[in-house]
Amino acid sequence: MIYKRSSALFKDALKVIPGGVNSPVRAFNAVGGEPVFVEKAKGAYLYDADGNKLIDYIASWGPMILGHAYEPVVNAVIEKAKKGTSFGMPTEIETEIAALAVAMVPNIDKIRFVNSGTEACMSAVRLARGFTGRDKIIKFAGCYHGHSDSFLIQAGSGAVTFGVPNSPGVTQGTAKDTLLAHFNDLDAVAKLISENKEEIACIILEPVAGNMGCIPPAEGFLEGLRELCDAHNILLIFDEVMTGFRLAKGGVQERFNIEADIVTFGKVIGGGLPVGAFAARAEIMNYLAPLGPVYQAGTLSGNPLAMASGLAMLNSLNNNPDIFNSLEEKTAYLHSGLDRSLQESNVVYTINRLGSMISVHFSETPVTDFKSAALGNNTTFKDFFHGMLQQGVYLPPSAFESWFLNDALTYEDLDYTIEATKKVAKTLT
Ligand code: PMP
Repeated sequence: MIYKRSSALFKDALKVIPGGVNSPVRAFNAVGGEPVFVEKAKGAYLYDADGNKLIDYIASWGPMILGHAYEPVVNAVIEKAKKGTSFGMPTEIETEIAALAVAMVPNIDKIRFVNSGTEACMSAVRLARGFTGRDKIIKFAGCYHGHSDSFLIQAGSGAVTFGVPNSPGVTQGTAKDTLLAHFNDLDAVAKLISENKEEIACIILEPVAGNMGCIPPAEGFLEGLRELCDAHNILLIFDEVMTGFRLAKGGVQERFNIEADIVTFGKVIGGGLPVGAFAARAEIMNYLAPLGPVYQAGTLSGNPLAMASGLAMLNSLNNNPDIFNSLEEKTAYLHSGLDRSLQESNVVYTINRLGSMISVHFSETPVTDFKSAALGNNTTFKDFFHGMLQQGVYLPPSAFESWFLNDALTYEDLDYTIEATKKVAKTLT
């Protein structure tokens, strides 16, 4: 495939946009080469600026669970736009989507809408701090919760206990309140809690991680966190920005039958428009302004176009609960096909999957946390990514990102992908 016009568009973009992109992973820095510029998309396919048709496995990093340009969503947005695009005043549709989300997700009474997953997680942590009167938070290495300062923290050298900023601009003062543990390691969390008694407001995690490739929780991990939180009056925050309305109607809480105290959403809940949300039981949500003391606001929060898009998406999912099973079946089919294709090559690999999230790690050892994810062979991943792109299959351009399946993918698309993998795998070393 030829990417001549994409290349020219990228050069133009580089002149006026830092790195040519509005979000770093799009720039292909992790895989090398130049990004593909997309012109339009329909169903499971992307059509790029050079007229290439690509099978899409990123689904806009999650939101397009029913495929691109899904008609009920597109029509809802068009009809809404004709009536005005923003008012900064309450609208009925905000209550409609809030009521639907509360009905679909277990264990939440109230929900507030924001404009991104970052905002949702940032606000959830502020609310947890306000509610508990404590400052520190525990997060897990490799879990991503958006680019707010408290989350851009990595483990300090030698120890997991002390966070240090992993971006200039994040202060030491902020870093000291974020404690780090390894995913799936309950003992480390228990140790952090005992070393910081009565100081920890919340534990935040992706209950099924998608930002170090897909990493499911080990058996008992989520239950163990719940018990620790209950024992120490710590709030448990499930960041369901990726998993919410994707792994089940009610997300990971429903799928694993575990209650979180605060849940954050993004991606699917907006149907492809900029939406995030956070939700909890009334006692916690009533701590937010204007009812309570914790401040949080947004000029475009609850924007009518975003709400129309999100409502059409949630209604479609709610009215077709089998969708989660059928997506999971497709993903399982892809999983076994990828296995067959990769087994014919000499590469070592591990495939992780949960529901419609899946990723191939070019690693011999099981991938259960950030350390083991980082052992993957990145050169092999790069070659795999570019090989698949040449075959017309668009994978996430980073080994540390989950693939997201969408319902518009057909079994023919999956078979094509499996065959393409077989061809590409033979070229890998
Ligand atoms: N949490 C998780 C689990 C995410 O995957 C992301 C984004 N990929 C975010 C939060 C941040 O969301 P946004 O990019 O909408 O700010």
